[in-house]
Amino acid sequence: MRGHPAVAGYILDLDGTVWRGEVLVPGAREAIEALRGRGRRFVFLSNKPLYSRRHYADKLTRLGIPTSQEEVINSSFVLAGLLSREAPGARVFAIGEPPLVEELRRAGLVLTEDPEEIQYVIAAFDRTFDYRKLEIAFQALRRGARFWATNPDKTCPVEGGEIPDAAGVIAALEATTGRKVELIAGKPSRHMVEAALGVLDLPPHRCAMVGDRLETDIRMAKENGLVAILTLTGVTRPEDLPGAAFVPDHVIGSLAELPALDRELGGDGCGK
Ligand SMILES: [Mg+2]
Repeated sequence: MRGHPAVAGYILDLDGTVWRGEVLVPGAREAIEALRGRGRRFVFLSNKPLYSRRHYADKLTRLGIPTSQEEVINSSFVLAGLLSREAPGARVFAIGEPPLVEELRRAGLVLTEDPEEIQYVIAAFDRTFDYRKLEIAFQALRRGARFWATNPDKTCPVEGGEIPDAAGVIAALEATTGRKVELIAGKPSRHMVEAALGVLDLPPHRCAMVGDRLETDIRMAKENGLVAILTLTGVTRPEDLPGAAFVPDHVIGSLAELPALDRELGGDGCGK
């Protein structure tokens, strides 16, 4: 791969890539350890706004992959950062669970349920979504509040199947108000990439994204100039690849194969 700039940083999806539920993908820990030993940097990504960055860092560390909160990025963190930069101290209403609300508060935003005050409605994955929340958001959007969302996922994989994700909340608001969501912070948005590159302190072409979903992980990588690596330990099967809209640059059976691929992508001693 002469002339190909060495990959020095990896952006790793979590669900279906690093772990499945509470169990690490076999070889994931050893692979990350080996690559850290070569000086590669890592950032871990999740679209899920249900848990804090601290929660993910603690889980990774507990499973044998020592990780700091700064090395984890999720959609609620990215959204709170964008919003606090665009409109510091804005009054917001979130259809979301407590970790998202906490993230917004930490970013200096003011939570309110008064539709006349609400400047931004945030739609998220919320397992306590109800008519009261729908109506508050509806009234605020009708009065012209901005309409943002954490993540576009239709479903979230859980033990034994799937449950409805943020797309259901977004759709309920769009259908009842006639408004369209204006910004989605999570994968495959460039906002997620920018946050990850900020942590890695590298330009896009020196980073690789590893994930299990074509329409989020691989799409985001391809649209933002990252090397796109599909891993087959999650939702995508080899038979899904022919004719796919977003084609990965490389396909690995699992993260256990990443150190070998890294030799091709990074070369020896080019990681700094
Ligand atoms: Mg995944």
